[in-house]
Amino acid sequence: SIVVTGATGQLGRHVVDQLLEKVPAEQITAVVRDRAKGAGLAARGVRLAVADYNAPETFDGLFGAGDKVLLISGNEFDKGRVRQHSVVIDAAKAAGVALLAYTSAPGTLTAALADDHRATEEVLLASGLPYSLLRNGWYHENYTENLTPVLEHGAVVAAAGDGRVSSAARADYAAAAVAVLTGEGHENTTYELGGDEAWSFAEYAAELSRRTGREIAYTPVTVEALTGILTGAGLPAPVAGIVAGVDASIEKGELVVPSGDLSRLIGRPATPLAAAVAAALQG
Ligand code: NDP
Repeated sequence: SIVVTGATGQLGRHVVDQLLEKVPAEQITAVVRDRAKGAGLAARGVRLAVADYNAPETFDGLFGAGDKVLLISGNEFDKGRVRQHSVVIDAAKAAGVALLAYTSAPGTLTAALADDHRATEEVLLASGLPYSLLRNGWYHENYTENLTPVLEHGAVVAAAGDGRVSSAARADYAAAAVAVLTGEGHENTTYELGGDEAWSFAEYAAELSRRTGREIAYTPVTVEALTGILTGAGLPAPVAGIVAGVDASIEKGELVVPSGDLSRLIGRPATPLAAAVAAALQG
């Protein structure tokens, strides 16, 4: 079967939705840590497996030989994500799965955020399992789901200078994962995934202005200033540092993904940022 971890997360839900359009529900296993949160998936005929990255024994016997597994990276930055991901990789190895696909980060990304991904990739490669590295670029939603302060202040604040980002919709990255899980010949592959067009924060602000009919400007700040703004807004200092560190990477061009892998895998153009902006402003 096809097994998806993090299935009740935002990316995971898109993956399961799109898998259901391609394969019978009984061939899909959703790994969830909260059975109640997975009730909607179970109602659609998807098999639920309850397991937690922090509890290795919960993965005992979860995978079967020949399964294709999507390991969606976790979000518990303080709990040792490499150890967590290793739990899943070890269990997949013991079962003899046919493919383990992992949602990683662009190979060019040097921000602290990428460290766990690089280390997980190393564990996966060392396991000898057939792998597919889905090096996901940035989500449009990282921006379009956080419009409230932007609209309130009429300003896009970032520490990215004139740097550009090839972001794409979560649904696009999900489609790429589904293509790898349901297609052939993806063993031992590395995909650098990102949108078709890289945009700058000035262009993003201009798009917001156009859509809202209001003057929204890009206000570039330093990484230190952004860290201060984020901690002021209630983010814990380490998290604020990590988030601001991503902007420093953007300024250096590390989130520009020119490979074309995403649109090639999904067989259509990626969702443009403008479409995500329009959807967010309507919603
Ligand atoms: P979410 O935070 O919505 O989903 C994370 C998923 O991981 C959830 O399903 C969560 O389970 C699951 N999870 C976390 N910890 C554990 C654990 N200990 N055991 C089992 N499952 C666990 O993130 P997204 O879906 O939006 O993105 C997926 C991943 O991509 C993120 O976790 C992060 O690693 C990375 N990411 C990428 C970004 C990008 O722009 N490319 C931006 C942000 C994150 P539950 O549903 O129970 O909470």
